[in-house]
Amino acid sequence: MGTCPRCGNKAGFFQTLCEKCQREDERKRQEKTEDERKAEDLKAAQEREAKRNRSMDEAKTRILERLNNGERVFLHDTVYLEVDSYISERQLGEFSFDTVRNMGLAGWDIVGIVPRTMGFELLNRYDDGGTAFAGGLGGNIVGAHVLLKKEIKGPLTQQQISELDEFLFRYIT
Ligand SMILES: [Zn+2]
Repeated sequence: MGTCPRCGNKAGFFQTLCEKCQREDERKRQEKTEDERKAEDLKAAQEREAKRNRSMDEAKTRILERLNNGERVFLHDTVYLEVDSYISERQLGEFSFDTVRNMGLAGWDIVGIVPRTMGFELLNRYDDGGTAFAGGLGGNIVGAHVLLKKEIKGPLTQQQISELDEFLFRYIT
């Protein structure tokens, strides 16, 4: 039996430090790794944020340049609407147009609709547990993505600039 050079307690065979000091070292090592990992995560998040801010600034500069040159700029957005849809008497969606109506008042115009559809696969089931495709029932419309457009015209007011910032924040990742 040797003696731990750090604390003077008994150290095990072939061990330099005693068990207590070894555990202490292990804990410190793990803590450091944890701290390093956190620091790396933070650094990566800051870099992503900085990159996104640069992309947003570039997009905004291009937009403002176009507007200054008298060129046209459109914002496009989508809203998902449930449709008044039933399958076998089970109601799938409840229709409401409030969101689109409010966006219309804010200058957004509907330019298209992309339906969301749902299909059902019919299977034959066999006694041995197997199944085989037997046909399909498809194309039931269960919702719709409404495509909206808004033209912005310069010079932008402070309010319009904040709206543009919000728009870019939502779509530039
Ligand atoms: Zn020790």
